Amino acid sequence: MSILQQNTINAPIEVKGITLHKGKIANLKILPSSPNTGITFKRVDLKTDNIINATFQNVSDATLCTTISNSNGASVSTIEHLMAALYGKNIDNAIIEIDTDEVPILDGSSKNFVDAIDKVGLKSSETSIKIIKVLRKVEVVDGTKKISIEPSNTTLEIDFEIDFNNPLIGSQRNSINVYETDLSDIYNSRTFCLFEDVEKLRKMNFAKGGSLENAVVVKDDKVLNKDGLRNEKEFVNHKILDCIGDLYLSGHKMVAKIVCSQGGHKLTNELLRKLFSDKDNFSIFELKEKNIPHSFINKVALKSIA
Ligand SMILES: [Zn+2]
Repeated sequence: MSILQQNTINAPIEVKGITLHKGKIANLKILPSSPNTGITFKRVDLKTDNIINATFQNVSDATLCTTISNSNGASVSTIEHLMAALYGKNIDNAIIEIDTDEVPILDGSSKNFVDAIDKVGLKSSETSIKIIKVLRKVEVVDGTKKISIEPSNTTLEIDFEIDFNNPLIGSQRNSINVYETDLSDIYNSRTFCLFEDVEKLRKMNFAKGGSLENAVVVKDDKVLNKDGLRNEKEFVNHKILDCIGDLYLSGHKMVAKIVCSQGGHKLTNELLRKLFSDKDNFSIFELKEKNIPHSFINKVALKSIA
């Protein structure tokens, strides 16, 4: 397996579970797909116009989770944890069949998707991957929330900061390199909310399937889940996970540096829209050996051997 060639999964993956916001049972299948087809969702409960491509242009709502829709109005929401697993595990092409309008939340992290992909393995193709290289800094600011993307030589670096008015969560910051850091803590970090927000969310028709099985719930300075946190920075690590998943709606791997303070799905989507609105901001190139920066190929070669 090489990450220089486009990969799909080696065998179908089937996942079933409750959805976080609507509280329905979803059956989801991840199926292999051909090179240059990208990540595509297929609503198998709908007979026509049921294909939704996982692109940032198709994001129709980014309140609390990321929803994509096609021109017919068919939608799938809460795609971000699955998208993050696909990005991190180097799945360039896959068809996601689903029988409802929301991806199952599972344990609230990407862990189950990552484990399932590791179990079946990848199938490589002869087709080179494409990389988006950011050429100019782009920034989106919304009050105290801020996200920027700027050029980087060979990596996708994400530097994320959160600041919650809660004594346990408080301020947390972490910086990772998607191609070099061990992402286990990121994949395993669960979605979270404050206890006092649960009722509010339910009244807004969100979090109907939410429970301590699939979300970390914080009340004052305590975690209500009996086993506590999975890692020291689980809150900010989950925000990084969301960010990786939302960035993958660009369609390709990226070489860039992201700096985000208190952002989320909406801001990340606005950033991608702004970045791709001006072709001087980026270039997309095929990753052939002759045009790979040396540091990138060394790291890639080392990783493929390891
Ligand atoms: Zn999330």
